[in-house]
Amino acid sequence: MKNSSIIPEPSIHLVSSNDQSNISSTLEFRYSDELDMSVSSSKKLGSISILSDTSGHNQFIVSLGDRKKAGTDTFRKASASFARWSISHSTNEYRLDIDQPSILSVNSAAFSVLEGLCLGGFDFDRYKTKDIEPKKAITVHIQSKKLKDLDDAINTAMIIGSSVNLARDWIHEPANVINPQSLEDRVKAAAKEFGLSVKVIHFDELVSMGAGGLTAVGKGSKDKPRLLLVEYKGSNSETPIALVGKAITFDTGGYSLKPSDFIQGMKYDKAGGVSVLATIIAASRLKLQTNIVAVIPTAENMISSEAYRPDDILKMLSGLTVEIVSTDAEGRLILADALTYTQNVYKPRAIIDIATLTGGVKIALGTLRAGLLSNSDKMATILQKAGDITGELLWRLPMDEEYFDLIKSDEADMKNSGAREASTIVGAIFLKQFVSDDVPWAHLDIAATGEADSEKPWCGKGPNGFGVRLMLEAIRQLS
Ligand SMILES: [Zn+2]
Repeated sequence: MKNSSIIPEPSIHLVSSNDQSNISSTLEFRYSDELDMSVSSSKKLGSISILSDTSGHNQFIVSLGDRKKAGTDTFRKASASFARWSISHSTNEYRLDIDQPSILSVNSAAFSVLEGLCLGGFDFDRYKTKDIEPKKAITVHIQSKKLKDLDDAINTAMIIGSSVNLARDWIHEPANVINPQSLEDRVKAAAKEFGLSVKVIHFDELVSMGAGGLTAVGKGSKDKPRLLLVEYKGSNSETPIALVGKAITFDTGGYSLKPSDFIQGMKYDKAGGVSVLATIIAASRLKLQTNIVAVIPTAENMISSEAYRPDDILKMLSGLTVEIVSTDAEGRLILADALTYTQNVYKPRAIIDIATLTGGVKIALGTLRAGLLSNSDKMATILQKAGDITGELLWRLPMDEEYFDLIKSDEADMKNSGAREASTIVGAIFLKQFVSDDVPWAHLDIAATGEADSEKPWCGKGPNGFGVRLMLEAIRQLS
């Protein structure tokens, strides 16, 4: 049967089955101190050993690495490593007893194992026409007497895993496939499939309402910018939680053109917007009892006679004016208008924005932790805790008012960029000018964590869907 869903077909299927007697391959997880070095070449987290007997029974043992360092992410990585590995090996069916002692030893490890199996199998190979193995489907038969509701846990893991994989899939797509118009088409198809309501504000309407940031950034492209609004209603009473995600489908930098070494990979500049869409889809499939709105300003930052320029002064939707110093600091301009619109129309009780905003976040935090900036200690704590649970780690940076001095303008209310110093903080300080003090708001800068520079045992190279599981967990905590 042809898969007509917008969700990519999973490589790994999880099923619960308590009769596993006819499946000859078993999957086990062991700490490195339990591994027999005569059969294993490595004890590193995620490495796999195989024990076979003469009756054709295969035991696949995945290393959890050092017992003392084990947390839920250990199990996610170990099982994701197995999922990746299994796709290129011959066995198609495994049985997994989730009640094995190593899994029971860590709280929530069982769920992390299931989630990792769903996450690890993803690869973006849609455009390869040569040298690819035919896609095979792998089934993992899961047994548990101790997990209260195994079916529910499997279903949840598969929904979350497939939503993250949807985000990876779309972020991977190049700009000749996903542009503001085709992103709109895809978002509408997604909304239809999952029963979400969707509204699109097109260029002319954005111009007439005065969204000077979003319209300036995107007008240099033949595919004009737009604002995509997706709503999920899981509750009758509450005001929504707003997720605002930057979706620049390609960022040349505009007239502040990026050097050629830095322009490749700029199709990933839509990661924030795609991940808020994936999050709201997952929330609706999980039937979370809360209201959510996903707000996705989308534009392509190009050069043409229509494009905006350095020195331009823009009037934003909020009425504030911005002097353009760099047309490459465009993400904050589209987010600013989206934040104003979100507050005016939806009166959200909390806002999370997520964006590949600044190269500076890599200088500050490397690729391990994303930048978190917030006007609310409570929001910051919720997000930080959510990241600890999902393994999408955050680090809070300060937002003292004095940093605003770096974007003071002689001619307008502010500039859109400062010098190189504190650039991640400056990005957030800029956005803060468009957020009311009484709305709890958190900004996530995922410019360095949203993609992997190289393949890991548990994850392929490129976009990793950072933020989807984190935002889902934060929504749960905020509900
Ligand atoms: Zn840029």
